[in-house]
Amino acid sequence: MSIAERLAEVRSRMAEAARRSGRDADAVHLVAVSKTMPASAVAEAYAAQQRDFGENRLQELLEKKPLLPADCRWHLIGPLQRNKVRKALAVGLQLIHAVDKMEVAAAISRIASEVSSAPVRVLLEVNVDEETSKHGFSAAELRRLWEELVRLPMLEIRGLMCIPSPVEKAEYARPAFAALRTLAEDLRQRGPLALPVLSMGMSSDFEVAIEEGATHVRVGSLIFGARSYPQAN
Ligand SMILES: *Cc1c(COP(=O)(O)O)cnc(C)c1O
Repeated sequence: MSIAERLAEVRSRMAEAARRSGRDADAVHLVAVSKTMPASAVAEAYAAQQRDFGENRLQELLEKKPLLPADCRWHLIGPLQRNKVRKALAVGLQLIHAVDKMEVAAAISRIASEVSSAPVRVLLEVNVDEETSKHGFSAAELRRLWEELVRLPMLEIRGLMCIPSPVEKAEYARPAFAALRTLAEDLRQRGPLALPVLSMGMSSDFEVAIEEGATHVRVGSLIFGARSYPQAN
């Protein structure tokens, strides 16, 4: 199957999952995860009307972006280290999906206030399985730090993101997705943010994520094929 055909298939499965759960298909965005894939593959997806692309390493994003049309929207979906924030802000990213520490959030706000006039759109990564080995705020931590996070002037927190531990069946990821949605609802209640975005769901489980309220699914291998070398987060 060509990339265009795979994209069409993913889009139709997304629409079907939205329909099943009584949601508007337009409310769910596809971020095509192009990490490790050549620019030519991204160009093929672009020709099939895909505009949102996700990379998990800043360096790779920086290399690929100039090779593609300027109206591509680039999402940084991997963790951002504090010492790379300045570089990341210079790129013009659509959305930073995985802010996983207070110090990174604070660095983004501080550097943004030095270099630009617009607040930076981010999602906060939540470690929904509470695994110590993983990136992200725990739910408790996020609740505790909330007042401090929302006060950062140049950080526009759009919502939450998670990467649940791999499971055998997509259905097993449902509680993690539901937990992220519930946490976003709690934080919305506390105010003052609308938190419209939930970035969750990958190739193996995006339909379940949509059923649980995902607004952005991050799908790579189902569109571009298997990655020829593994890449750690
Ligand atoms: C690689 C990656 C994805 C996409 O994974 P697939 O299983 O290939 O769909 C999604 N999100 C993040 C954060 C990733 O690093």
